[in-house]
Amino acid sequence: MNFKELGLNKPLLRAVAEKNYNAPTPVQEMTIPLVLEGKDVIVSAQTGTGKTAAYALPILQLLFNRQEASKKGKKIRALVISPTRELAVQIQENFKEYSLYTELTSTVVYGGTAMEPQIAELKKGVDILVATPGRLLDLHKQDVINLDYVETLVLDEADLMLDMGFIDDVKKIERLCPSGKQTLLFSATIPYKVVQLTNSILKNASKVNV
Ligand code: AMP
Repeated sequence: MNFKELGLNKPLLRAVAEKNYNAPTPVQEMTIPLVLEGKDVIVSAQTGTGKTAAYALPILQLLFNRQEASKKGKKIRALVISPTRELAVQIQENFKEYSLYTELTSTVVYGGTAMEPQIAELKKGVDILVATPGRLLDLHKQDVINLDYVETLVLDEADLMLDMGFIDDVKKIERLCPSGKQTLLFSATIPYKVVQLTNSILKNASKVNV
């Protein structure tokens, strides 16, 4: 199986080739087709398995396919929640590299640093936002983030997110997004509290285990 057979389009294949990815990893092979079909998916995968590309590539493809003609007034159409600043930064770097040959844009917001530069970036308009939960809610409260147009929500490292006490924030964020969105949950382990979260926010979720 190669990336072309998984159904990725030319701009994404070009970006992937430049990253020297020869073939999809197992988690990518299993997850990419499900995301492209629009399914909710729960994926049990460790860091290092290629899980970021397993959601970033098909999300970019979906956004690309549904791209609106006007480049003006971009709306946040994909939202990725990460428990830590370090992971959030890494995820957005990946989105940036994979979207190089598309017109899709992304940015990252996280706590523990000044809000103003993040607000300035958001005001330019982005398609994809990567965020830690607390800062996302702070910025939403200040009316600089609108989640009404989110098509896909990703919860990355869900087990860690719950361990860090973000459950209420995550549920709040989920409710701020449209009910018809696609939701993807990634977790290294699937303890009972992750199952509970999955049951409360995912719809007919497909499961991927690597
Ligand atoms: P992740 O599990 O998303 O943190 O990815 C771990 C590392 O694997 C990152 O450095 C990625 O750039 C790299 N990677 C992701 N997919 C592939 C692939 N198909 N082939 C080779 N390397 C990859």
